[in-house]
Amino acid sequence: MTVPGLLIVISGPSGTGKGSICRCLLKRRPDIFLSVSATTRLPRAGETNGKEYHFKDKTEFEAMLAQDEFLEWASVYDNYYGTPRTPVDSALAQGRDVLLEIDIKGALKVKQKAPEGIYIFLVPPSMEVLRTRITGRGTDSMEVISKRLGKSMEELSYLYEYNYVVVNDVLEEAAAKVESIIIAEKSRTHRYRIQSNAGPEEPLLVEKDLKNW
Ligand code: ADP
Ligand code: 5GP
Repeated sequence: MTVPGLLIVISGPSGTGKGSICRCLLKRRPDIFLSVSATTRLPRAGETNGKEYHFKDKTEFEAMLAQDEFLEWASVYDNYYGTPRTPVDSALAQGRDVLLEIDIKGALKVKQKAPEGIYIFLVPPSMEVLRTRITGRGTDSMEVISKRLGKSMEELSYLYEYNYVVVNDVLEEAAAKVESIIIAEKSRTHRYRIQSNAGPEEPLLVEKDLKNW
């Protein structure tokens, strides 16, 4: 029997560095499966369809919605974003740990469906640093930037819905913290069952399928 992988959800205000942390984490841990969301947002320079996102128009996205193809979806800054359900379910079923990088509304919806997941909230070291990062990304208009900054303070209040918080100051250090959280989560006692009838060369502990336990 394959024990399902861990569902790891990273979210936090726009521009805190979720995308950067995920890329850094995946370099350290290429075994983790990154869910690629669908969005109606237009691709930014350098983004490729199927890599950062599956870029859809509104009609295509609504057709996916009608077919119940999303684990969760949300309207974020006037665009739709959604997590396709099938790739996530199959990767978890194959025992792979799955990473979702989604907004706060979406994360809370996933938490209701999958409370056994781990929920990590990423915050910037300060509002000034956040402003510099969003502006420095150079991909959004001034109007979008001020909308996103305005919402960030309000979004911080969702911190306590999450299991962990990571301050994204130095990128490599923050990614290492996320990796440590994953390692610690996988070492928690409640994930294991003692195999009392184990043979001399068999493992003493086996991982539990927490969903079906
Ligand atoms: P999000 O995915 O949360 O919207 P991004 O990963 O796109 O955020 O990061 C926003 C901007 O901040 C990008 O230009 C990115 O290069 C920069 N950035 C992210 N993390 C750091 C960091 N720790 N130090 C300096 N710049 C960072
Ligand atoms: P961006 O347009 O900067 O790539 O993303 C905007 C916001 O949408 C970010 O907070 C990002 O995490 C979030 N997002 C990306 N994909 C999804 C998704 O599938 N579902 C939800 N709910 N949010 C998403």
